Amino acid sequence: MKIIRCTKENETVYAELIGEKVYPIKGLPYENVEQDGREWALSEVKLLAPCEPSKIVAVGDNYLDHIKEMNDAIPEEPVIFLKPPSAILNPGETIIYPARSSRVDYEAELALVIGKKCKNVEEKDADEYIFGYTALNDVTARDLQPIDGQWIRAKGFDTFAPFGPCINTEIDPEHTPVQSFLNDEIRQDGNSETMMRGARKILAFVSSVMTLLPGDVISLGTPKGVGPMCKGDKIEIRVGGVGSLINYVG
Ligand code: MG
Repeated sequence: MKIIRCTKENETVYAELIGEKVYPIKGLPYENVEQDGREWALSEVKLLAPCEPSKIVAVGDNYLDHIKEMNDAIPEEPVIFLKPPSAILNPGETIIYPARSSRVDYEAELALVIGKKCKNVEEKDADEYIFGYTALNDVTARDLQPIDGQWIRAKGFDTFAPFGPCINTEIDPEHTPVQSFLNDEIRQDGNSETMMRGARKILAFVSSVMTLLPGDVISLGTPKGVGPMCKGDKIEIRVGGVGSLINYVG
């Protein structure tokens, strides 16, 4: 099942997406998905980021090939950081290039969406708390990362967390293509099967630190091939089963 969030004529709804048809549902999608009887065309709605997280947790250095390209050390425990909800950007909208940075990178990532409040989840029980998966662009002001030593500023600017266009509840998180295309040229061509720690293990780790709520997002790291974007660029993150998350840089 694919879940989207969208607006049409000043109304915002969650909806099931089937092909090019949009079926608004009653309330939130996490406990049960019940269509309200309406049917819209996808072309009639404006897509929004597909959920409203209280927090976006992201994992750094989770693909060995990316660790090598960054000359980072292999972390003994997952390296996690937060991207604020104010960084959320809808599909199709424009990433704002901060005046303080002269290098802003794309990072194509598979991200999980929490379906049930949880704390201290065991890896074997993780699927019970995962609602589905989406695509996230962990936009990063690369030149500010080493200056600060931690990543809140480099990864926390407004518009630095585009995600969507849908949540797919049926993805196999261990075997999912994760790609990026800059101005329609492929730049990253990874697969979640090469992650050092998979979605379930990461959920267990993050939930050992903090309580997670329905709609919270955990972004699972990026494969090799990251690089800079310029004003005027089009950046597309493509995750198998989720589709294309397209944004622009301005
Ligand atoms: Mg990242």
